[in-house]
Amino acid sequence: MANIFPIEKFDKLETPFYYYDTHLLRRTLNTIKDELKSHPQYEVHYAIKANANPAILDIISKCGFGADCVSGGEIEAAIKAGIPASKIAYAGVGKTDREIMLALEHNIMCFNVESFEELEIINMLAGEKKTTANVAIRFNPDIKAHTIDNIATGKKENKFGIAIDMIDEVIEEVKSLGNINFKGIHLHIGSQILEMEDFVKLSSTVNTLVETFESKGLPISDINVGGGLGIDYSDPDFGAVPDFKSYFNVFKQNLKLNERQKLHFELGRSIVAQCGTLISRVTYVKRAPIKEFVILDAGMNDLVRPAMYKAYHKIENISSPYEPKCYDVVGPVCESSDVFGKDIMLNETHRGDFIAIRSAGAYGESMASTYNLRKLPLSYTDTDLQ
Ligand SMILES: *Cc1c(COP(=O)(O)O)cnc(C)c1O
Repeated sequence: MANIFPIEKFDKLETPFYYYDTHLLRRTLNTIKDELKSHPQYEVHYAIKANANPAILDIISKCGFGADCVSGGEIEAAIKAGIPASKIAYAGVGKTDREIMLALEHNIMCFNVESFEELEIINMLAGEKKTTANVAIRFNPDIKAHTIDNIATGKKENKFGIAIDMIDEVIEEVKSLGNINFKGIHLHIGSQILEMEDFVKLSSTVNTLVETFESKGLPISDINVGGGLGIDYSDPDFGAVPDFKSYFNVFKQNLKLNERQKLHFELGRSIVAQCGTLISRVTYVKRAPIKEFVILDAGMNDLVRPAMYKAYHKIENISSPYEPKCYDVVGPVCESSDVFGKDIMLNETHRGDFIAIRSAGAYGESMASTYNLRKLPLSYTDTDLQ
């Protein structure tokens, strides 16, 4: 589907850059909004770490979603983008005093608290500020999500959340602290999850937790099931918009909600992944004894997921009309892991061709670095290039 890119507009631009299709982003957001009409107690918070590009944040903010933040920097970015503090959730195992103070100053919707130690510091800092902190307790559900190990977060051995078998201590602690306003519970089992069965398990864990809290005199007003819905990396055109209907329905059917409760979602990847593409030019096509290498001007510093998680991204030569050949597609960075794909079929490739690395809108630009003293990648939206 090479024709979805305005190649003639790319000709004048320095590569590599991220290209964002804001039409697709809006279509995705509207799909979610339509689905939410049948789930009035559900609220979506965009997980900013997936992509904090201001143009993207602006569109998401105008759509009315809240934000899920994992640092003080993300809280500031959310507020700058116009997302109200009353819709900001804040997770992370290592919130510093400075970050906690920032969140208290803005009176955010909720701290998702990941340890007793953190809860005590939040209570203390809120006391010093003569205020109360809204908190939910993040539990580690010990569910192994069907995803890459590196992006599973809900197993006992992961650093996230408080173990479920410590629930009685949690309840005691929450009751004893004077400067916190207890809202409920938070769980997040990982990312790129396509097995709805994982969310069924999550729902049943939530039901048990809520019953335990309420039976011990702590009512729960807010339940947050995190994010993690996966996308179709193998066919980004066919699977451009994830199946939000099935996703929300899994919770509708399995998670018990009373009429006073809200159910919060923190979607990152599923909102932004498919709208972003990393565009690069071919610097060399290198012949070697057993392979041919397509060497791009984009590297692992621009998009680290293949090197870091062995993640698959569809790669296309969007310039070449020729028959496909087999190549390894690599970057210029001095690391053997700087590989975007091995034994990839690409239309016969030449120096100067444009290569599109698809589904790169999530955890692409936001994870870019200047390793090898390379420049950070540029970015353009479809509207920038009109
Ligand atoms: C990263 C993260 C998310 C978003 O995950 P996606 O897989 O991008 O939807 C949601 N909640 C928390 C706490 C996270 O750390």
